[in-house]
Amino acid sequence: MSLSRREFIKTVYITLGGIMLVTKNFTTNELMCHCGCNDAEMDDDFMRMLQELRDVAGFPFRINSGKRCIKHNAEISSHKKQGIHTYGKAVDISVMSISTTQALHLIKQAQDIGFTGFGLNLKGERKGRFIHIDNRGEDFSPPAVWTY
Ligand SMILES: [Zn+2]
Ligand SMILES: [Zn+2]
Repeated sequence: MSLSRREFIKTVYITLGGIMLVTKNFTTNELMCHCGCNDAEMDDDFMRMLQELRDVAGFPFRINSGKRCIKHNAEISSHKKQGIHTYGKAVDISVMSISTTQALHLIKQAQDIGFTGFGLNLKGERKGRFIHIDNRGEDFSPPAVWTY
């Protein structure tokens, strides 16, 4: 894959700023566990698919939650220790600043790319709304859709 001149300059700039890029549009900082453990290790396939989704969506994603260590996941998730965020195969994308139509379209695009888990939080205060997407394999659980 070759980077355009503009993307190349951006990559160098961001790297010099001390922020590591995981893919063209996602940094380790935004994907890192929020507990302070510095774990930002995401699954390669998942990140390839997430970048593909970002490319077709055409707008920036604000990631509310990416990687979670087992300890942190147990504190904040109903899935306790085994949640799919602990495998680096899930992100929660804020839908604070996109319309419901855009959100539904994003889910459709994600499904086309091959994501198989969708959690929807589209009620309450806008800033708390998000879409969870993951690429759970059949060994984790069958494809799933749920609301929070
Ligand atoms: Zn952690
Ligand atoms: Zn999630």
